[in-house]
Amino acid sequence: MNIASHFRVKPASAMSLGRFDTDATPGVKDKAAALNQLSRDVERLAELQYTLFAENRRSVLIVLQAMDAAGKDGVVRHVLTGLNPQGCHVTSFKVPSGEEQSHDFLWRIHKQAPARGMIGVFNRSHYEDVLVVRVHHLVPEPIWKARYDHINAFEKMLVDSGTTICKFFLHVGRKEQLKRLATRLDDPARNWKVAEADFTERGYWKDYVKAYEEVLERCSTPWAPWHVIPADHKWYRNYAVSEVLRQTLESMDLRLPKPAVDITALKKKYG
Ligand code: AMP
Ligand code: MG
Repeated sequence: MNIASHFRVKPASAMSLGRFDTDATPGVKDKAAALNQLSRDVERLAELQYTLFAENRRSVLIVLQAMDAAGKDGVVRHVLTGLNPQGCHVTSFKVPSGEEQSHDFLWRIHKQAPARGMIGVFNRSHYEDVLVVRVHHLVPEPIWKARYDHINAFEKMLVDSGTTICKFFLHVGRKEQLKRLATRLDDPARNWKVAEADFTERGYWKDYVKAYEEVLERCSTPWAPWHVIPADHKWYRNYAVSEVLRQTLESMDLRLPKPAVDITALKKKYG
């Protein structure tokens, strides 16, 4: 089973997140097999990243979106753990600062887009501007409505400039989310992560689902596809993301550049 194409959202297809099984674990025998494959993928991703960096022609952008506690940080920790920090840059997008708010919504995003040879990771992204912004009416409707087209055009421009974009919606169930938020209250080592908003935002669950569905329907494009990952099982979430990423990077047909010097001559001289 091809995990990447299984979870990829077809462009312009109707999306019903309520019918999606957040508990599903397709394509793998059991947890042990998934952990096994994850560790192989982590190693393979490191090799692919090495070649991407050496090639120095193209870049990769990974976008992570999810409800609170679905595991965006967990994916960064467990899936991207083998990458060379020199070739990887993670940006966590928070509530925009005053300066950021005084520009167009893509200004702060574009500045963090990965340079050639680099893997960029967005922990939250420009999609917040049609998610939290929509749910809480932070700007008038005609403004956020226009953003889907702006986002698609922006991502197309990045792709045309040599960036491969891979977007993930980590889909956690509402009950599982509450369980995880409760653990954060009980575990002193995780208390710092707790925000009251995590609980109050749960009250807007239906609105978020609607907002996510429109994102997935309108912004899963042939050039920048979305993947909806069942995220109730952390091990499955990590496995699925690592499989999609490995396949995406493999499909780039990355090649080490030809040496800039005459290796045979240098071997003769110094070898
Ligand atoms: P966290 O990811 O838990 O550190 O929280 C970051 C917070 O910033 C979340 O509540 C996001 O919804 C919020 N946020 C991120 N981007 C935006 C945005 N463009 N407008 C408003 N809030 C945002
Ligand atoms: Mg949070």
